[in-house]
Amino acid sequence: MSFQAPKGTFDWLPPRSERVLAVREALVAPLRRAGYGYIETPVFEDTQLFARGVGESTDIVSKEMYTFPDKAGRSLTLRPEGTASVVRAVLQHNLHNGQLPVKLWYSGSQFRYERSQKGRYRHFWQVGAEALGSEDPALDAELIVLAAHGFATVGLKGVRLLINSLGDKTCRPAYRAALQEFLRGLDLDEDTRARIDINPLRVLDDKRPEVRAQLDGAPLVVDHLCAACNAYHEEVRSLLSASGVAFEDDPRLVRGLDYYTRTTFEFVHDGLGSQSAVGGGGRYDGLSEMLGGPPLPSVGWALGVDRTFLAMEAEGLLDESTESRLQVYGVPLGDDARRRMFLLISELREAGVSADMAFGGKGLKGAMKGADRSGAAYALILGERDLAAEAVQVKDLTTAEQTEVPLAQVVDVLKGKVQ
Ligand code: AMP
Repeated sequence: MSFQAPKGTFDWLPPRSERVLAVREALVAPLRRAGYGYIETPVFEDTQLFARGVGESTDIVSKEMYTFPDKAGRSLTLRPEGTASVVRAVLQHNLHNGQLPVKLWYSGSQFRYERSQKGRYRHFWQVGAEALGSEDPALDAELIVLAAHGFATVGLKGVRLLINSLGDKTCRPAYRAALQEFLRGLDLDEDTRARIDINPLRVLDDKRPEVRAQLDGAPLVVDHLCAACNAYHEEVRSLLSASGVAFEDDPRLVRGLDYYTRTTFEFVHDGLGSQSAVGGGGRYDGLSEMLGGPPLPSVGWALGVDRTFLAMEAEGLLDESTESRLQVYGVPLGDDARRRMFLLISELREAGVSADMAFGGKGLKGAMKGADRSGAAYALILGERDLAAEAVQVKDLTTAEQTEVPLAQVVDVLKGKVQ
């Protein structure tokens, strides 16, 4: 009997798994340099945190959450996103009473029961950043610039940035009413009609062609922004331009989560097919209050690591064969040689040389095959005669040249060769 990973999930295996670790690190590096601190929150939270924080009317909450009772009957949910947890943690630990903005980043698994397809998984990885407690267009621009730098660091060229403003509590209600009136005049199914009352902006996000075709004349939020929101948005745009970060205005960009206000943005990659978003975020000035906290205007984003990796693959950035991180491979012949090789390999590792050896009592032929497959630059061959002579054969696996080196010097010799 054999098991398969659950539907919508997959395993990261070497060498790709090493590359994806490097991608995560590269996306995070610009954040560290900008004063964002690392936060780790639990993988599961009180279900109500997401119901309130992400919004009952969203697909995430209404259809996609992995919710289960624990043994004491509490309802818990595997996190479908990171922002609600970060705000919960900030409020719980009173971080908002210190210096503002509170700047945090996270990196971790998210879980959504989605229809799985390429680029859309039930378990996926995000790197996220949040800046809490300041209303300042420079902070929105900073985060967008940092995400753009992250994508550039991994070598991506085809990432496009779309931005929009969703207004605030001054101007959004009038826009919402105008949009509702427009949507009520369309030919829509019952579920979508219900959405008009609960969250009409989300209808604009509908991907079905029969709905999209009817949305052409829909009122746009940019035409309804109040003076303050307009000025804010202009400032974000001009800071992006001054930073040399290209963007496209997308007046139809709304996002699937309920808590966004003002700035909203998405990074898309055209090499990904229908799941083209590699990251997205925006300002969420009302979220803290929705979770029972004080007003805490904030902005943040989450980048999809899996999709960033797919985008890199689409751009051919992963084609070059992964360089082996192994430098030396030990080939011991006989029991005494194996004991000595075991110690020698440890010494090499302690000296900073990456080293492995043949296990399982392989003979010369099998062990040399292992050395070739390992990708190591040098094989160390130690036979009974070498042991007696206190020496070891160092074979350069690229040139096949072999030299004898005294055991007492081999660590230094190899250190010199590989560094
Ligand atoms: P969201 O939290 O929905 O704003 O998503 C932020 C980013 O996470 C998206 O732009 C995607 O890159 C990634 N993402 C969201 N959902 C999935 C999923 N089901 N599978 C893989 N990546 C995802």
